Amino acid sequence: FEVYGAPVMSNRGKLKGIVLVLHDITGLKKLEQVRTDFVANVSHELKTPVTSIKGFTETLLDGAMHSEPLREKFLNIIAKESERLQDLIEELLELSRIEQSYFRLNWHTTNFKTIIEEVFDLLKEKAKNKGIHLDLVIEGDTTLEGDATRLKQIAINLINNAIAYTPTGGHVTVFLKGRENRVELDVIDTGVGISESELPRIFERFYRVDRARSRNSGGTGLGLAIVKHLVEAHSGIISVTSQVGKGTTFSIEFHKERQQ
Ligand code: ADP
Repeated sequence: FEVYGAPVMSNRGKLKGIVLVLHDITGLKKLEQVRTDFVANVSHELKTPVTSIKGFTETLLDGAMHSEPLREKFLNIIAKESERLQDLIEELLELSRIEQSYFRLNWHTTNFKTIIEEVFDLLKEKAKNKGIHLDLVIEGDTTLEGDATRLKQIAINLINNAIAYTPTGGHVTVFLKGRENRVELDVIDTGVGISESELPRIFERFYRVDRARSRNSGGTGLGLAIVKHLVEAHSGIISVTSQVGKGTTFSIEFHKERQQ
């Protein structure tokens, strides 16, 4: 609580009492904490690749560049870490853009089927290289009002994650269903799963169940925060169920008609 106090005086200047105003600032403090945590997280995430780039560059300059195999190895690491830095900055900018109050979707009538087919073309090679069976099932009329670019971004993120967190030989099935006034998208994988205690946190910015695994799969920890925002901007609902060691299902429900 924040407390403000003021004396109440009588006409003759005698103290009659005190007025106290108690202001509940729990919400404000929480917001402040979220902001501080965010800055700490961003700094940490940026620092890791920069430290690595700096270290390997110095080692090269200190003489390692005269050895052909070392030169190639270190330059590859530097290239990979720079790419990671770039991805991170792009996702941060993206998140900040869609969190602005003036962010608007570009509404049009669009068919989710076409979007999902494009996403499949983009990701099928990646799944194949990892030895993952990627399947698509489409049912009913999947036409809806929405922002095609953003719907594609949602699907890419979820399917990318499903591929990233599923070991070789596993399955990723995408189920797209057109109902009477809704379109549902389920992304089902037979991957590592997420424990019940971690599930509520995975949509938080930078929250990752396994930092090392996420890093190896090129993850920034921002994907699901972006997805949630975009789903909600469409007045949609996103939910997730999971079993450790068995797999995870992300489900989204969109209204076919734009909600006021
Ligand atoms: P990342 O870039 O790390 O993948 P996301 O925001 O997309 O970040 O996801 C947050 C975390 O949720 C991931 O680090 C991972 O631990 C977990 N996660 C997301 N999707 C899946 C999935 N399909 N299976 C298992 N874990 C997942």
